Amino acid sequence: MELCDRSASDLAGLLRKREISSREITESVFKRIDEKEDTIHAYITTTRETALKQADLADKKFRNGKKTSLLNGIPIAIKDILCTKGIRTTCGSNILSNFIPTYTATAVKKVLQTGAVLIGKTNMDEFAMGSSTENSAFGPTRNPVNTEHVPGGSSGGSAAAVSDGETILAIGTDTGGSIRLPSAYCGVAGIKPTYGRVSRYGLISYASSLDQIGALGKTTEDCAMVLNAICGHDRLDSTSAQVKKPDFRRSLNKDIKGLKVGLPREYFVEGIDKRIEDQIINAVKVLEKNGADIIELSLPHTKYAISAYYLIATAEASSNLARYDGVKYGFRSNHDLTDSVRMYEKTRSEGFGKEVKRRIMLGTYALSAGYYDAYYLKAQKTRALIKEDFDKAFEKVDCMITPVSPCLPFKLGEKMTDPLQMYLVDIYTVSLNLTGLPGMSVNCGTVGGLPVGLQIIGKAFDEEMVLRVGHAYEKMSEVTT
Ligand code: GLN
Repeated sequence: MELCDRSASDLAGLLRKREISSREITESVFKRIDEKEDTIHAYITTTRETALKQADLADKKFRNGKKTSLLNGIPIAIKDILCTKGIRTTCGSNILSNFIPTYTATAVKKVLQTGAVLIGKTNMDEFAMGSSTENSAFGPTRNPVNTEHVPGGSSGGSAAAVSDGETILAIGTDTGGSIRLPSAYCGVAGIKPTYGRVSRYGLISYASSLDQIGALGKTTEDCAMVLNAICGHDRLDSTSAQVKKPDFRRSLNKDIKGLKVGLPREYFVEGIDKRIEDQIINAVKVLEKNGADIIELSLPHTKYAISAYYLIATAEASSNLARYDGVKYGFRSNHDLTDSVRMYEKTRSEGFGKEVKRRIMLGTYALSAGYYDAYYLKAQKTRALIKEDFDKAFEKVDCMITPVSPCLPFKLGEKMTDPLQMYLVDIYTVSLNLTGLPGMSVNCGTVGGLPVGLQIIGKAFDEEMVLRVGHAYEKMSEVTT
């Protein structure tokens, strides 16, 4: 097995024993990038030179016997929605194709402070709007498991890179499922923490009340290692929470005997691919066999989640994206600059892609006078009802299990002409963004050679439970398969 195919926890152990160096790992990752990137296109920008320097620095720390973080010397890729000082940050859009931030996002800063090695900035749907990474202005990413299929989105570049050994770890963002869905589709692990757990400072906003930064890795343990580095209160983000910061890795090994695991009925209804349902039910049986108590429950407002999500997300996006006007930063059209209104119009027409324009129009409509009460306000009320469903259900259970996606990774182009079909892919993921709850995707096998993701949902700020169940499942399924 090549070094780039190993998990971060394995590599951290080998680095500690000085059996390998960070330079060797980093070179192995770049070798894989050289071999596969033309096909996969997981990255918008790679930072090879600085990566090798960072790797040497990490090795030096080991040589000097310094106390190091477990992430010291481990390669990590960052979704191109997080600002990196001096490194182009495009958000997958032409409108930011020449944008070089003057500061680094808190989460990125924190992870690099551990000595992790930055490999590059990963491809994504433009402004994180999409479920397939086909909406990138830089061209789509392909699923390494089967390159005719999409990697999921919007953090498709991050998930594909982890799955393919083009990085060891990655950071993504999740507004409606964008970490969990690509993790499921590429067969890796990915966690969306509770809203407020990770600072959003330096994250280019899509829908501010839903956006959250999280981790992707080959295993749950790898995700826990990244989460340990990036979480914590930040005075630069007023929505970042002042809560205690557990050691997420430490909670992994508690067993699951006696845990109450909820199965929400509404997540196993018509519309789901039967083969996925079977796979999830089999995984639940594995948990049950190992001592978990399975409890069926109901989240009655689930059917409104997609409508509420796409109203709130587009409304917030239309407001957040008003800042791209060709004046302050980013792309400016050079067509007819004599009239400022014309300049805004041309810049935005040429700079934004089709899906982003669609969402700005939808959101502007939903917020307009006369429609606000009928759409936006109603969506916010629905959001409160969805939250109540979860609050009630969590009185009875410790966590919940659901599928991540109702369908298998689809083929490139398959859903591009029908935005509604694309939106429906998010049916099982958006509720966690509407409620702020933590959730993760772990691989639970394949159907016809394509990966299936199992979603674990936890109570607010109980990522420990989510990770514990994910880790336990990974261990048990290793034994049973
Ligand atoms: N697919 C969803 C959307 O397009 C979620 C995207 C995300 O989580 N960033 O809005």
